[in-house]
Amino acid sequence: MNRDPRYDLLFEPLRIGPVTTKNRFYQVPHCTGMGWLRPRMLAEMRGVKAEGGWGVVCTEYNSIHPASDDLPHPSGSLWDDSDIRANALMVEKVHAHGALAGAELWFGGARTANLYSREVSMDVISAPNFTGHPFQTRAMDRQDIRDFRSWHRDAALRAKEAGYDIVYVYATHGYLLSNFLSPVMNTRSDDYGGSLTNRVRLVREVVEETKEAVGDRCAVAVRWSADESIGEDGVPVFGERHEMFGLLADLPDLWDINIADYSVEMGLSRFVKEGALEPYMRHVKAMTSKPVVTVGRFTSPDTMARWVKSGLVDLIGAARPSIADPFLPKKIEEGRLDEIRECIGCNVCYAGDGIGVPIRCTQNPAMGEEWRRGWHPERLPPAPRAATVLIVGAGPAGLEAARAAAVRGYEVMLAEAGTELGGRVTREARLPGLGEWIRVRDYRVQALQKMPNVQIFLDSEMTAEAVREVGADHVGIATGARWRPEVHEMGAFRAVAPEGVPVLTPDSIMAGQMPEGPTLVFDGDGYYHGAAIAEKLAAAGRPVTYATAEDSVASWGGYTIESGRVRARLMRLGVRLVLSHAMGAFDGARARLSCVYTGAEQELAATSLVMVSARRPNDGLYRALLDAAGGDPGALPFTLKRIGDCEAPALIAAATHAGYRYAFELDAPDAPEGPPAHDRVDVGFDGLEIPAHWK
Ligand code: ADP
Ligand code: SF4
Repeated sequence: MNRDPRYDLLFEPLRIGPVTTKNRFYQVPHCTGMGWLRPRMLAEMRGVKAEGGWGVVCTEYNSIHPASDDLPHPSGSLWDDSDIRANALMVEKVHAHGALAGAELWFGGARTANLYSREVSMDVISAPNFTGHPFQTRAMDRQDIRDFRSWHRDAALRAKEAGYDIVYVYATHGYLLSNFLSPVMNTRSDDYGGSLTNRVRLVREVVEETKEAVGDRCAVAVRWSADESIGEDGVPVFGERHEMFGLLADLPDLWDINIADYSVEMGLSRFVKEGALEPYMRHVKAMTSKPVVTVGRFTSPDTMARWVKSGLVDLIGAARPSIADPFLPKKIEEGRLDEIRECIGCNVCYAGDGIGVPIRCTQNPAMGEEWRRGWHPERLPPAPRAATVLIVGAGPAGLEAARAAAVRGYEVMLAEAGTELGGRVTREARLPGLGEWIRVRDYRVQALQKMPNVQIFLDSEMTAEAVREVGADHVGIATGARWRPEVHEMGAFRAVAPEGVPVLTPDSIMAGQMPEGPTLVFDGDGYYHGAAIAEKLAAAGRPVTYATAEDSVASWGGYTIESGRVRARLMRLGVRLVLSHAMGAFDGARARLSCVYTGAEQELAATSLVMVSARRPNDGLYRALLDAAGGDPGALPFTLKRIGDCEAPALIAAATHAGYRYAFELDAPDAPEGPPAHDRVDVGFDGLEIPAHWK
């Protein structure tokens, strides 16, 4: 297939200082939860993106010195010469596919507590730590500033030695350099504070010194916020930003633009749509002659082409779209648009770094598994023999298992009890703001429909007998789970209402049932379901109380940067919030809740209750098949596995991962059981000296 000529401009090379990118697809720096802890995992993952056609592939935030460490969030590091080889691993993988490699040099200031290195954090002033740890920063004196500049210069030289083509000066996101720029935070009275020229001084010096150190071979990029904040009404507050930008406009070789509010820049699809930074870009482009890149969760080649053509940007920046589909550029280049695996904007990828574990992705199950399990987002090993696979259940686990098995060349039958495909994804995408989640289903259904070795049967509820009659060689049970009406208390489930008093669940609401009268939504799950259901009911005019035993709304959503926004939305809709309260009982007229700290009880009027608590695996079919074989899967004439929510209810990302894994490991009796290989730094790896701080 050929590429549509409308997208030709996305494949034009562009000069960035001393280097040239082969196209306009630019993977901006993004965290991975791997960093210096998992160098091989990281290198392989970035290499796959380069293979997928990204013209530039950057690191995550790459610490320049132990005085900036972010553990338990694993950043990259260029602290000493021994780090060079670990960085070079990634550079080699990226260069192997003709892409440029970029290193984002980072110094956290008040946004790092240095919990690992135990160095005192320093910043423009002495201030409390932004991340809530009870450590204040030291106000940098002149020697600190000189030290910082020389650390940055040394790290730039190491980046160059590692082979990077682009070296960043990171001046946004509340890290050190952005705090020097800040008219609010920078209250210094020396020549680094006060006037605009003074506040810009440190960034200017660092850019100049980086260019002087590595600019002969490396482009120098600046990551920069286009605004100071976003007003109540959503309108950008530029403040003195234009003027500040004007002072530096032509100094670096590239501008990587974002905005002050991370929850918009990195917004969930629930709140922020594709290309949200458009209102910021015109003035940026008008003020500089240097190339400009920005992000916007771009998945549509039409939007990308429009942005480049209309001069909003020169390069299409992407973090999440490159995670969901490392082969996005290749698919556009080859005219395979219907194969693009579009990011759904759920931010599960971002949660990895927040928790301190390697990245995962709802749409791309191979993300993070490239080195550890040898998975690839596009290729799977061919089936070693002709065989048939029956997958029961067409939720995200079943769809992915069927897709991946069919890619391997198996004859695949997919049986679904319902009249539509997608399982929980189809249901959940109807909740407020979650419409884009349907992409999990659509990508897979489109792929399945194109493959001749796939048969899909709707309206086909399978029994154990029906499964045996099919006579498949392999049977994968992906029958999902259903929400329970009970409350979950440390491993025990307790009914909250007497018999005859109905208790609703997310399944009832998603099936279209609407409670009447004042409704209590009790969220014992802590992610998006409870809040999304409260929002749906409140938007439909029901008086709603949202209660949880946690201290915050949608507490797990803190990792995906949604808790705060979700809470604001519920408050604006007039939802009453009762936090830190456990569910007691409900009698159809009143609900009783008790404070998790004091035990003090409170009653509230509610004629309906939606319990968002826990799910029960639909594993009856799996157990029936196994029981008939006396509990021994080896006695069955087919292999049998349960996958996804039917095995253990979890994130959609876990279901797609389980589906891929099922298909990948078919007919692979030697597939390792148990935990996969560690990217263990303590054992070192060929030719790589172990960095001092790993020991
Ligand atoms: P997961 O997240 O693990 O993929 P879902 O709950 O999204 O799970 O999907 C499970 C799917 O399995 C649903 O679409 C459901 O209709 C289907 N299903 C459940 N039991 C059967 C069965 N016995 N035969 C066929 N399909 C089934
Ligand atoms: Fe997009 Fe979600 Fe994947 Fe992140 S985890 S890249 S937001 S689909």
